[in-house]
Amino acid sequence: MGDSTVNIYQTVLKQFDHAADKMGLNPDVRKILARPMNEVIVHFPVKMDDGNVEMFTGYRVQHNDARGPFKGGLRFHPSVEINEVRALATWMTWKAAIADIPFGGAKGGIQCDPRNYSQGELERISRRFVFALGSNIGPEYDIPAPDVNTNAQIMAWILDTYISTLPPNERFRSVHVVTGKPVEAGGSVGRDKATGQGVVYAIEEWANANGVDLAGVSYMVQGFGNVGSWAARLLAPFGSRLTAVEDHTGAIHSPQGIDPEKLARYVAEHGGIRGYPEAAPVSHEAFLATEADIFIPAALENQITAETAPLLRVRLVAEGANGPTDLDGDRILAQRGIDLLPDVLCNAGGVIVSYFEWLQNKRSEFWELDEVDGKLRRRMSTAYHAVSDAAAEFNTDWRTAAYVVALRRLENVYTHRGIFP
Ligand code: NAD
Repeated sequence: MGDSTVNIYQTVLKQFDHAADKMGLNPDVRKILARPMNEVIVHFPVKMDDGNVEMFTGYRVQHNDARGPFKGGLRFHPSVEINEVRALATWMTWKAAIADIPFGGAKGGIQCDPRNYSQGELERISRRFVFALGSNIGPEYDIPAPDVNTNAQIMAWILDTYISTLPPNERFRSVHVVTGKPVEAGGSVGRDKATGQGVVYAIEEWANANGVDLAGVSYMVQGFGNVGSWAARLLAPFGSRLTAVEDHTGAIHSPQGIDPEKLARYVAEHGGIRGYPEAAPVSHEAFLATEADIFIPAALENQITAETAPLLRVRLVAEGANGPTDLDGDRILAQRGIDLLPDVLCNAGGVIVSYFEWLQNKRSEFWELDEVDGKLRRRMSTAYHAVSDAAAEFNTDWRTAAYVVALRRLENVYTHRGIFP
């Protein structure tokens, strides 16, 4: 795990260098953005169901707050370590800038496999992590959200723990300390599906720009959790056909099409896609080599690489996951003429609706789903066209173009504010 996770932060820095060279980023701003502002590591004890105490290590990396409070998800996964969190925090800075929302970038998590713990243990792990982070998070300072293996329930425990440590008269001023909460506990309608919805809005923009009718399109999805399952479910009503799916339990294929609603119900019951009766099990390699129009990677990093990129038989890769494509993967996709909607653009729907949730909490408002979806669609469309314009202006690939959009906006802030003192 060590090597692959070191590589991912190196990947981010190489992507950054490439875009900074391309646009001629101010050298002082370049120095600042090349490393995170703050890195918090906490080791904390949790009492297990059997009465023993287990020690956990939690991270929160705050990359940059020039454009607003730090913002980013919390991941519970065995691969979580400092370089992975640095990479994910840096991507959040770019993503918030591309979406043009007033947030900076952060990410955090706990190195653990949540499948090994009971609900009660997970609750105590989550709460004790928040307690250990203390004032390193806060509603106007650093606002966590869900990521891999964390969900609305965990966000509710974070909220409850954070506000329970405040004096009573400050508690209800602080419900925006975390986003992705259950709607009943101050969340926003539409947040659950927001990242998948944003992926689909981005695909719609691509389809319009390229004269593609989504009604005749086939697609494959890697990862059938929050992002992958929602993207799959929201693309199907266009008449598009889901032909292959992979998750941590295996891969399945059906040329006739897989019903994503039925598959979601199966996964809710069985914990994964393995054994789904209406599709054939296939190997990882066969999954990757499925012929389809669109591939939506929505699981983990480093999936499209020198080994796997040559196998793909698709027209478009729409990155629901963060960092699914490494530098070799990017090069091979470009050589093969496969279009790319890069993560920092394509999966920005989550942080955009998190911003809407944060605003609603601050204003004690509850917006209707139509309003949330309409505002999300407009922001995704604006971001898509900003990246498309930058790709044309700099005659470059879409990932570099997306970085250029972000870096220009960050550079502008530093130009106006200067460096203290
Ligand atoms: P999740 O925990 O809900 O789902 C993760 C999925 O990945 C599961 O279906 C799991 O089975 C699958 N998976 C894990 N290991 C795998 C493997 N080796 N091969 C194939 N599939 C595997 O997580 P999520 O929130 O959907 O996040 C998925 C990705 O999207 C991550 O990269 C995350 O950072 C990114 N993302 C999430 C959000 C959000 O709002 N949740 C926002 C932006 C980006």
